[in-house]
Amino acid sequence: MIVGGDFVVTMNDAQPVIKNGAVAINNGKIVAVDTQDKILAAYRASKRLPGEGKVLMPGLVNGHSHTAMVLFRGLADDLSLQDWLQNYIFPAEGQFVNENFIRVGETLACWEMISGGTTTFVDMYFKPDVAARVVERCGLRAVIAPSSIDFPSPGFRGWDDAFAAAVDFVKRWKGRNPRIIPALAPHAPYTVSPEHLTQAIQAARQYDVPLTIHLAETQTEVQDIQQRYNATPVQHLENLSFLESRVFAAHVVWPNESEIELMAKRGVGVIHNPDSNLKLASGFAPVPAMVQAGIQVGLGTDGAASNNDLDMWEAIRLTALIHKGKTLDPTTLPAKTVLRMATLGGAEALGLADKIGAIKVGLQADLIQVDLTSAHLTPLYDVISHLVYAAKAQDVDTVIVDGQVLMSERRVFTVNTEQIRREAIRIGEQIQAELRPSN
Ligand SMILES: [Zn+2]
Repeated sequence: MIVGGDFVVTMNDAQPVIKNGAVAINNGKIVAVDTQDKILAAYRASKRLPGEGKVLMPGLVNGHSHTAMVLFRGLADDLSLQDWLQNYIFPAEGQFVNENFIRVGETLACWEMISGGTTTFVDMYFKPDVAARVVERCGLRAVIAPSSIDFPSPGFRGWDDAFAAAVDFVKRWKGRNPRIIPALAPHAPYTVSPEHLTQAIQAARQYDVPLTIHLAETQTEVQDIQQRYNATPVQHLENLSFLESRVFAAHVVWPNESEIELMAKRGVGVIHNPDSNLKLASGFAPVPAMVQAGIQVGLGTDGAASNNDLDMWEAIRLTALIHKGKTLDPTTLPAKTVLRMATLGGAEALGLADKIGAIKVGLQADLIQVDLTSAHLTPLYDVISHLVYAAKAQDVDTVIVDGQVLMSERRVFTVNTEQIRREAIRIGEQIQAELRPSN
C-alpha cells in the first residue's frame, strides 16, 4: 500500500517534514518514506491512499486512560478527585461494571479514538480479557493494564484476587497478539500498600511486562504519603525499588526537583493528562521542567469521566497552552515539542519507540491522514503549528494501524457504530434510572 500527504510529518529529526511525500507499506511495516514521485517510481501497490490536501503523520498515542469509562462521561462533574472517586465513580463501578459494560464501553471508546486519530492507547481498567478482544476486533494497538487496588473493585474482594487475576491475564496475553501489550497497574501509592507494590514489581520482572501507576496526582496524595511513609510519592516508590522496573506513571503533577531528577535517572516515563488535571483541579504538572530534565513525557486523556472525552487533539492543544500561561512565557513547550509528546514521546514513555511513534523505515505502519481543507486550517504557513494550535479530531480523515485501514474518509470500518451507539445509550439509561431516580 502507498499512502501520501502534501506534508509527511515524520517525527524523524533527520527529515522532519517531507513535502508531497508518501510512505510505502508492506506486511504492516513502513518500507520506504520519501517524496511521492520517488515512492511511485520505486514501488507498485495494489492499494493507494492519495494525500492531496492532507498531512500524513504518525498515529497519536494516548498514554493513559480508563477506556470503558466513556459510559460514565458526564455522570458527575465539578467535584474534587477524592469526592468524585469515593462517592461517585467507585460506587458506580461496583454496581455497573460487568463484562457487557466493558464490551460496549471499550468498543464505544475505540470508535471515538479511531475517529480522532489515536492508534495506540493505554487502558488501565477492569475485565482485561474482554477489553483485549474488543481491541483485537477494532484493530487498534493497546497496552492493557488491569487495575489492582487494595479494596473491593468490580468482581474482586480486594487486592489478592484482583492482582492474581491481573497476573493471569498477563500470562494469557503476553506474546499472543503483537497489538496487545499486557501490563500491570497497581492503582496508586495511596490505594496500594508497600507490600502489594512489591508484589507488582516482582510479577512485572517475572513476566517481563511494564508497570503503570497513578503518581503524585494531587497535593492531598503528597501529604497522605508523607504522613504514612515519611516520603514524597516518587521517593516512596524509589524506596521500594519500584522505579527500577519499566514504569510509566500517569499525572506526576506534584514531584519536587529531586524527584524529577530521580525519574529522569530511572528512565520513568510520564504521561501528562492536562484535561483531567484541570477538570479535577489537581494542578499544573511541571512538564517543562520534566522535559528539560530529559524525562520521556507522553500525553493522555485519562478516563472520559474526568475529561470528558478521549480527544488527543485537545490534550495537545491544552499542553501547548496551559504551561505558557503558568510560566508566563510564550516560548514554553513549542508546537513541535508538544506534537512529539503526542506521538514519539508517548511511544518512548511506554517503551514502544522501537515499533511506533514515527514514520521511519522498519516501524509499524500506524499512520493517520489529517485533512487540511477546512476553513480553520486555511491558509497554511506551518503544518506543525496547524496540527497543534488549530486542528481538531474531526479533521482526521484516515487511520491505519499495522498497515490495516481502520478509517477512511471518516468512515470507521471496524466498529458497528449504529449498534454500539444504541447499546451505549441503553446502558446510560440503566445507570441514570438506578443512580438518579428523581431525574
Ligand atoms: Zn487515571
